[in-house]
Amino acid sequence: PLFKNAEFYTTVNHLRDLPDATGVEIAFAGRSNAGKSSAINTLVGRSRFAFVSKTPGRTQHINYFQLGDGRYMVDLPGYGYAKVPLAIRQHWAHLLSTYLQTRTQLYGMVLIMDIRHPLTELDRQMLTWFAQTQKPVHILLTKADKLSRSKAMAALNSVRRLLASDYPHCTVQTFSSLTAEGVEDAIQILQNWFEA
Ligand code: GDP
Repeated sequence: PLFKNAEFYTTVNHLRDLPDATGVEIAFAGRSNAGKSSAINTLVGRSRFAFVSKTPGRTQHINYFQLGDGRYMVDLPGYGYAKVPLAIRQHWAHLLSTYLQTRTQLYGMVLIMDIRHPLTELDRQMLTWFAQTQKPVHILLTKADKLSRSKAMAALNSVRRLLASDYPHCTVQTFSSLTAEGVEDAIQILQNWFEA
């Protein structure tokens, strides 16, 4: 992995606390338990970097990791956990929609989806919020190791088809934090974005 100098930078719980650094940010979003923390850990080549959630939906903050040269990975709170109280879900919706729609430092979004449960209603909500910005989205269909090769390819093609009409600025690939499938492809995309 090429982001091996990644370091924790800061945690943000309110929009007013977003850092004003003039770097380039790539945001990571996903339903809780989709495998977002594991994907971040895999991409930075650490086993316990982003907090792998024991209680899904507990982390409602935005975590910043710095990669050097003014580059940041931004770990957005996982969503879709049914037991989270309404007030927290509303806080989440406000924080995320505002961040995604107004953050000028944000270059693009990586959306993590469990390959077995892709494009949930809230995943579509994230895509819809972000679509207006015309910024790129790259989708990691993770836990690909949980499906046979042919089922994983079928899932990939089905997601591609569904996205093509509504969200043409999206790209999508299979990924696994367990087998490292797709890691090099994902790193290539991130590097292209950081260098754009
Ligand atoms: P998050 O809530 O989206 O950050 O999800 P986590 O990264 O905490 O992962 C949720 C659960 O899925 C954990 O038990 C992980 O070990 C498991 N998991 C995550 N990624 C993979 C993967 O690629 N393959 C498999 N088999 N399990 C995974």
